[in-house]
Amino acid sequence: MDTNGVEYLDKIEVTIDPRAILHIQGYSAKKEPNPAMLNLINRAAEDARPLVKPRAICKEFQVAEMTEDKVILKNGTCFSIGKKISGWWKGSKSLVIAICTIGDGLERRLMELSSKGEHTAALNLDIAGTVALGSLGDQVHQHICNRASATGIEMGPFLNPGYREWPLTDQKIIFEIMPAATIGVSLNQQCMMIPKKSVTFCAGAGVTEVQEHFNRCRHCGLAKCPYRRISRAEDGGLQGLHGTM
Ligand code: SF4
Repeated sequence: MDTNGVEYLDKIEVTIDPRAILHIQGYSAKKEPNPAMLNLINRAAEDARPLVKPRAICKEFQVAEMTEDKVILKNGTCFSIGKKISGWWKGSKSLVIAICTIGDGLERRLMELSSKGEHTAALNLDIAGTVALGSLGDQVHQHICNRASATGIEMGPFLNPGYREWPLTDQKIIFEIMPAATIGVSLNQQCMMIPKKSVTFCAGAGVTEVQEHFNRCRHCGLAKCPYRRISRAEDGGLQGLHGTM
């Protein structure tokens, strides 16, 4: 569905790979889980599937000007992205913005489990939700890239307010210009999204310098993030490791 330039992506099927849950839990080839933990994690992936309702929207906005630390859209909107992101998006003719969510079903189940004291099950289910959101984000990302490459347009890295110098408060601007409520997503006073398992991302389209194999985690200052995405070569092709930031 496409309304007023907004594309609705509500047919995406997410994958919840138990190996990705294991990775976030700190397991690896060197530190394997015991059979009981493996069982719990497989169950969390199974339990999460019916609770996940993936929805996403994306829209392209024309760029009026890229300064050394800002992107100014033709509609007058200005994002204070900082110098690094401005460099990565140099030459962009438009900015694609997306909002993705897996809905609030999983969150409600988490509250039930926590209120019953089932904290391990709640933690595993929470991580399964993060993996599901990562899978959704990956597919929306891919959809946007495929569409751009079909017309010979190069996309810059997909980033969001809160990353590096880009202030989190710019989320408010995204929610002013995107119809997030139509997929059930809102922003609270602290600029956190509701449902929590939601994510926004933006990318410059028409960049003059392509960032081959860009890995946002490599440029992120958060040293001990459990959601840190390792390279495809290192992770054997795991999907959905990215967190909700
Ligand atoms: S997943 Fe973690 S390390 Fe990677 S960009 Fe996000 S916060 Fe930084």
